[in-house]
Amino acid sequence: MIPFLDLQAQYHALRPEMLEAISGVLESTQFVLGDAVAAFERDFAAFCGTRHAVAVNSGSSALHLALLAAGVGPGDEVITTPTTFVATTAAILYAGARPVFVEINPVTHCLDPNRVEQAITPRTRVILPVHLHGLMAEMDPLLEIAGRHGLLVIEDAAQAHGARYRGRKAGELGAMGCFSFYPGKNLGAYGEGGAVVTHSDEYAVKLRMLRDWGLAGRHNHVLKGFNFRMDGIQGAVLGVKLPHLDGWNAARRSRAALYDALLAPGGVSIPRPPAHCEPVYHVYAVRLAARDRIQAALQARGVATNIHYPRPVHLQPAYADLGYGPGAFPHAEAAAREFLSLPIYPELTDDQVAEVCHHLLACLESSES
Ligand SMILES: *Cc1c(COP(=O)(O)O)cnc(C)c1O
Repeated sequence: MIPFLDLQAQYHALRPEMLEAISGVLESTQFVLGDAVAAFERDFAAFCGTRHAVAVNSGSSALHLALLAAGVGPGDEVITTPTTFVATTAAILYAGARPVFVEINPVTHCLDPNRVEQAITPRTRVILPVHLHGLMAEMDPLLEIAGRHGLLVIEDAAQAHGARYRGRKAGELGAMGCFSFYPGKNLGAYGEGGAVVTHSDEYAVKLRMLRDWGLAGRHNHVLKGFNFRMDGIQGAVLGVKLPHLDGWNAARRSRAALYDALLAPGGVSIPRPPAHCEPVYHVYAVRLAARDRIQAALQARGVATNIHYPRPVHLQPAYADLGYGPGAFPHAEAAAREFLSLPIYPELTDDQVAEVCHHLLACLESSES
């Protein structure tokens, strides 16, 4: 069996260092925030090329607090994509604002800049693109539109740690960038975690207050805040992992290049990063007309796959009250029907990639006859 994801190999490679770092937190009894989290914040800001990184307890909290720090609230609208994990939409609703979906570009699968402008109203405050699968949204046109209309761009970079656009890191291009450190992400904690990165001192101060009950000094609650602090142990784990991230991302790109080379000649629709983008392939998703049949056939041949995501957010029952129905975003709906995520992680071998491709191409041939 080729597993879809294998977190064991990485843990075993880092085990001695990891146990020492975790033991350091236990000895210090700094179980919440503390030195390990502060050190990780400094390192992650340096990695992203921002002045600040504010560590929180999940990527969902990062999105929620970034919107609040930007001053988004009831009556405001936030433009985003239906092709994402539901957390992007949920965070907009947590902030009290209205999510306004815009169709994706059918090639990049990210927010289509050509359709954003017609969705802007006097209530629009933020454009919230998602760097889906670790490929980046087309940031130049999005930033240009936002600048012209006086809007902020907040990046959902939960799948794009280390991805670059014109040499600049994901999360660093907008007013704020939001990351998740869920275990399966390119940089994963051993539990939940997230961060917001920003160049702005003002946003950073607000984010730090909001994650910790709105405190400005002891017993002085100046904002209606939350308990969204990062655990000390997660800060230590992420601190051990961060120096390896560039190497892991390079390994993902190398596996993706091999997938591209083996699948494109077979007529498979492979991922197409937008111009100026160096992707980090959190997910390697191909598009297949007979997706469900081929997923089952691959499973029978010992290849585990996944789907990111089988239903766009506007068709999820929980968000039906936003008033979108089937047919609202044909490109997003077609992608959801056709996406198939193949195994990709740094420890996956070239032989395993070749084996996945062999089985996929064989399944395609037999399903055509
Ligand atoms: C994982 C993810 C999130 C949510 O992050 P959590 O840490 O699970 O809360 C948000 N947006 C996208 C695009 C994600 O992939």
